[in-house]
Amino acid sequence: MNIETHIKTKDGYKEKIGKHWYYFVETKCENCGITVFKSKKGLVTNKYKPFCGMICKCEYEQKIRDPKGFAILEHKDTSNFSYLLGLIATDGHIDYPRENSSSTNSACIIELNGHDKDLLIRLTDIFGGCIYDTFTDRKDKTSMCKWYLNNRNFITYLRDIGFIHNKTHTLDLTEWFNGITEMNKWHFIRGVWDGDGTITIDKNRKCRVSFISASETFADMIYNFLVSRGLRACKCIRKNIKYNSSYYIISLSRKKSRISFIDKLYEDTQNSIYLIRKYNKALDVKMQRG
Ligand SMILES: [Zn+2]
Repeated sequence: MNIETHIKTKDGYKEKIGKHWYYFVETKCENCGITVFKSKKGLVTNKYKPFCGMICKCEYEQKIRDPKGFAILEHKDTSNFSYLLGLIATDGHIDYPRENSSSTNSACIIELNGHDKDLLIRLTDIFGGCIYDTFTDRKDKTSMCKWYLNNRNFITYLRDIGFIHNKTHTLDLTEWFNGITEMNKWHFIRGVWDGDGTITIDKNRKCRVSFISASETFADMIYNFLVSRGLRACKCIRKNIKYNSSYYIISLSRKKSRISFIDKLYEDTQNSIYLIRKYNKALDVKMQRG
């Protein structure tokens, strides 16, 4: 048996599927421009734009829906972008197609407490993306909000500099961090600070300014940076018996260090992004004696 079911035509080819012939026309992917063959019917009625695959289709739709988000890498060397990466390193995560995962999206998500939604709105103004309200705990109705950005090139960039899907214990951005400008380092640190920094004043008016991280490499990077800038800090390890894991705490040890740290973080509040709630607390710390 030798029945020809695939025949070249003037503008593409025709193929016999079952009893019927279907016509395919040579055209170009609307997103990346490579040659693709698409059903003649669909192209004639202009019903579907031609794409080489789902990834290009999603990317094209994203470009139309969220042009700012699509162009996020144009901000790459800016202070705001450095801040954003600090926030992603702490309160964010990335998702992309990978083994043992059904994910087809390449997305970046930052989840914050609902009280801090203003910050996400600010991010959306600058970087695009969209915001969702979520509830993590239905009982106590803790409202959370998520910033979501779908952009394959951005995720590729983040992965290139050291972000991975489940980064908690292994995050390592040291090489990237060492390569950015001094100013952007501080903006990045402020992002990390807004994500995983704690500032407390106890009843004896004693202040505590600290960072927490589950990745030792990441904790070392922050610690080394602060110390090399003349700040007094200490790093300690804590065990989480329940989850059989460890985490690291970096605290600024002296009042002088705490104040210079705060001053450095909020050097240019006019032009930078920051969590207002934390900033106000930082101002309180500056007023304390202890
Ligand atoms: Zn394509």
